Amino acid sequence: MVENAPATASSTAAETLARPDHDVVIIGAGVCGIYQLYRLLQMDLNVTVLEAGEDVGGTWYWNRYPGARFDSESWSYGYSFSQEVLDEWSWSEHFAAQPETLSYLQFVVDKFDLKPHMQFGCTVDRVVWNEGDRAWSIHLADGRTLTTRFLLTAIGLLSAPMMPRIEGVEDFNGQAFHTYHWPKEPIDLTDKRVGIIGTGATGVQVIGAIADKVGSLTVFQRRPNWCAPLHNSKISEEEMAEIRSRYDEIFARCAETPGGFVHGPVDERFFETERAERLALWEELYDSPGFGIWLGNYREVLMDETANAEFNEFMADKIRQRVKDPSVAEKLIPKDHGFGVQRVPMETNYYEAYNRDNVELVDIGETPIERITAEGLRTTDREFEFDILIYATGFDAITGAFDRIDFVGVDDLKLREKWDNDPISYLGMGVSGFPNLITLAGPTSGSVSTNFPRGIELAVDWGTALIRHAIDNDITRIEVTPEAEERWMEHVRDMYGMLLLRNARSWFTGYNANFTRERRPRHMIYAGGNPRYRKKLAEEASAGYPGFRFE
Ligand SMILES: Cc1cc2nc3c(=O)[nH]c(=O)nc-3n(C[C@H](O)[C@H](O)[C@H](O)COP(=O)(O)OP(=O)(O)OC[C@H]3O[C@@H](n4cnc5c(N)ncnc54)[C@H](O)[C@@H]3O)c2cc1C
Repeated sequence: MVENAPATASSTAAETLARPDHDVVIIGAGVCGIYQLYRLLQMDLNVTVLEAGEDVGGTWYWNRYPGARFDSESWSYGYSFSQEVLDEWSWSEHFAAQPETLSYLQFVVDKFDLKPHMQFGCTVDRVVWNEGDRAWSIHLADGRTLTTRFLLTAIGLLSAPMMPRIEGVEDFNGQAFHTYHWPKEPIDLTDKRVGIIGTGATGVQVIGAIADKVGSLTVFQRRPNWCAPLHNSKISEEEMAEIRSRYDEIFARCAETPGGFVHGPVDERFFETERAERLALWEELYDSPGFGIWLGNYREVLMDETANAEFNEFMADKIRQRVKDPSVAEKLIPKDHGFGVQRVPMETNYYEAYNRDNVELVDIGETPIERITAEGLRTTDREFEFDILIYATGFDAITGAFDRIDFVGVDDLKLREKWDNDPISYLGMGVSGFPNLITLAGPTSGSVSTNFPRGIELAVDWGTALIRHAIDNDITRIEVTPEAEERWMEHVRDMYGMLLLRNARSWFTGYNANFTRERRPRHMIYAGGNPRYRKKLAEEASAGYPGFRFE
């Protein structure tokens, strides 16, 4: 076998192998799976999507909790691949709420008639590489088995919800939900005594949305986050027309910023500006919509401890100004990490919620929760009684959905075991020992650290071209080389080294307080920015995929 050369020997040609049921199987029908399906159908392949949920949407199908909405500008989040979709769809808010985003994805699926190629209510439990047939066997929870030449994962970066490690969860007599599993039917919160555990991006959205609708709200906070105002607003018809006329410009802007957003770091250098100038920029960013305050700041805020510390003080003062009770304000100011080294929750009325008489903040760093009880919960300090308990405890991010599938590769290699120390891959797109598997939005891919659709359109187009290359050249087996993987991971580690997030206890480093065992810090995302990632993908493709072995 010659590396990177299409096989010509008839013994490896596609027609001599047992034909699997499908050319391609995609797992997941979210933003990623939808677009991947669209692309593969254009190639006239026999492809199906397997989805655990009962309908399309992924993140936007599952997360129906009050306050669930974009942090990305809606018009920068939508797909860019179809002019018709851009022309026909109107966003009603700059940061759309979950129902609107779900409608958008349903609109795209209907427009391209994608549903007939999707199967719902099927959870993939196990996938096994069959070397003899050069195919994957896919075992579903309903007992069925499918086979496919290529397997593509579109299983989500935030799709494996985590419950807290607290005893007694089953004992509670009231209604209890993890935010990911918020019911489809409306929940009446009026006059209810509600407890919420978790103050990450989700908890912050929920708290801001329900504080004035419930009887009482008790917030259990383990560690505060640096939150920034979202400043959402409606989009009028005229404004939507104006946005539509600028789509080329918007997507060009997203393509040049590290995060794939319209926000990119300012050109000025932190240490070359006067403090008054810095404060003026920060006031402007604080009053502006979206992630500008995180991604449109001085680069040094995310890279240098001194710059970061000065900005932390600015943000801490904002919290002190907005929260009336100084002792509550102090509890809401993070002390264990700097601004922006963890995912920044965007908020609407979050800090003001704590000024309400019906809202109480409980610092479970000081008084930990001992257990959930039939009536509510008990901390080391007190008993609490609730009608509704909300678990806003987030996700086993990025690798969680992979770990929940038993991936068995060459020589019975398990992906879970291979990734135990660090989720090693090449370009975040493939893993040695797991042939014909493309891990769209896998760990260390650019998509997981960007305005998602901007990253995923890139990844899907790249993966599609790789499959096209294989099919056109009668290649039936593609596998990442261990050398390519090693080189890539070295680069990934170097990119982490540039940013303060390398020290964070967050999902960027694979940290989750609810894991049952301590894990070493891991490299979960590509921190080198979207333009650099795009260049890496393009170089690999134009060089004929030197990081892969083809047979
Ligand atoms: C509340 C919330 C808000 C967010 N806001 C933003 C934002 O503003 N901007 C942004 O860029 N990103 C945001 N994200 C990230 C968001 O996850 C991505 O933008 C995007 O929706 C991910 O799409 P996906 O298709 O890769 O994965 P998902 O949307 O997570 O879809 C994956 C699908 O795979 C299915 N699946 C997983 N495992 C299996 C299995 N074993 N068998 C069968 N099916 C399976 C799941 O059921 C799910 O439907 C947000 C995430 C959350 C949770």
